Amino acid sequence: MKRIAVIGGGIVGCHIALVCAQKGDEVFLLELNEKTGQETSTRNSCVLHAGIYYNPGSLKANLCVEGNALSREFFDRYGVDFRNTGKYIIARNEDEIAEIDGLLDTALRNGVPGMERVTPARVASQVPLVHCTGALYSGTTGIIDTAGYMSVMNGLLFQQNVTVLTSCRVTGVSGTLLETERGTLDADIIVNAAGLYCDDIARLWGITEYSIIPLKGDYYYTTKLDLGIPVYPVPNHRHKTLGIHLTPTFGIETIIGPSETPSSGKNNYQIETPREIFEQSLLSMVNRETLAMLEMYEGFSGNRPRAYRNGVRCDDFVFIKKPDNVIHCIGIESPGLTSAPAIARHVYSLI
Ligand SMILES: Cc1cc2nc3c(=O)[nH]c(=O)nc-3n(C[C@H](O)[C@H](O)[C@H](O)COP(=O)(O)OP(=O)(O)OC[C@H]3O[C@@H](n4cnc5c(N)ncnc54)[C@H](O)[C@@H]3O)c2cc1C
Repeated sequence: MKRIAVIGGGIVGCHIALVCAQKGDEVFLLELNEKTGQETSTRNSCVLHAGIYYNPGSLKANLCVEGNALSREFFDRYGVDFRNTGKYIIARNEDEIAEIDGLLDTALRNGVPGMERVTPARVASQVPLVHCTGALYSGTTGIIDTAGYMSVMNGLLFQQNVTVLTSCRVTGVSGTLLETERGTLDADIIVNAAGLYCDDIARLWGITEYSIIPLKGDYYYTTKLDLGIPVYPVPNHRHKTLGIHLTPTFGIETIIGPSETPSSGKNNYQIETPREIFEQSLLSMVNRETLAMLEMYEGFSGNRPRAYRNGVRCDDFVFIKKPDNVIHCIGIESPGLTSAPAIARHVYSLI
């Protein structure tokens, strides 16, 4: 039996802790906040992605497709609220038609099931307020109740005898000892799943080439739209994000976002994107009357943990083993929520 310390109680650290405990290891999960899942894992679009956008052969592509299937099994088995809504990615003009065809090609190369090229009439039959020139339908995209997901996860960690230490910031290392705000901890294996702070943790072991520069995503809400399915534009190439989309939730709100705003800090969760940015973006999908009817109001924010290696953006998830008993998960941005159970398997294979 190994003694394993996982730093970071987001969805990724929790899945890693769970897998290790299920394999019979003694596991400690160290989280700086008072509760698990208070950072990026509950500050996102809450979408189970299918694996459409990512370079074929990349970790993002493979772990997203695998994570989609594993997450479904997990939600089913443990009763996490999940709805297989499907999703449309729309072309907003003739030029974007080639783009959705390119996305379809990438999705098929990634082995994403349930993809269909559909007509504007098909989109209009389900979402009459949205206009487009063509669209892609993804049948394996859905929405997750992330707060419920974290709560189910806490129960499972408890059942599996994982020692969850909250209000326990990891501050340093000294030999084989982890130094934390609650004292020191000795472990055979350490996993760095610290999300936005993974670069700070990696630096404790002399890994200095990675930095996380957060890219903030602000969201607005509307309660005036009865939307059964997420609607995404084609991706935003400038920021390499998925663009401001409309996503239903389990409540009466539809979320609108996320924007792309340089963040003044990893824990900056102020909504700073001007309302006009959301309006402009929505006007490429709906008309002015619909926009006025939405009565948008401020929602919440999340910070994308964007990783750079010596100043160059990392396009993929990064896993580093250094020294031999420490595994670092770096740049786990979207689709990290979807990929989490597959990331956990991958990390366990590295232990
Ligand atoms: C705007 C936005 C939208 C997104 N939408 C989606 C989506 O729809 N679908 C999808 O699949 N993915 C999405 N993602 C990505 C997804 O949310 C993340 O990839 C995922 O939540 C990362 O989980 P994590 O556990 O790595 O990080 P986190 O949830 O940030 O967890 C890391 C934990 O480590 C803790 N920690 C940090 N430093 C220390 C320390 N020194 N000591 C102890 N604990 C520490 C933190 O408090 C935190 O709880 C989105 C992300 C953003 C920002």
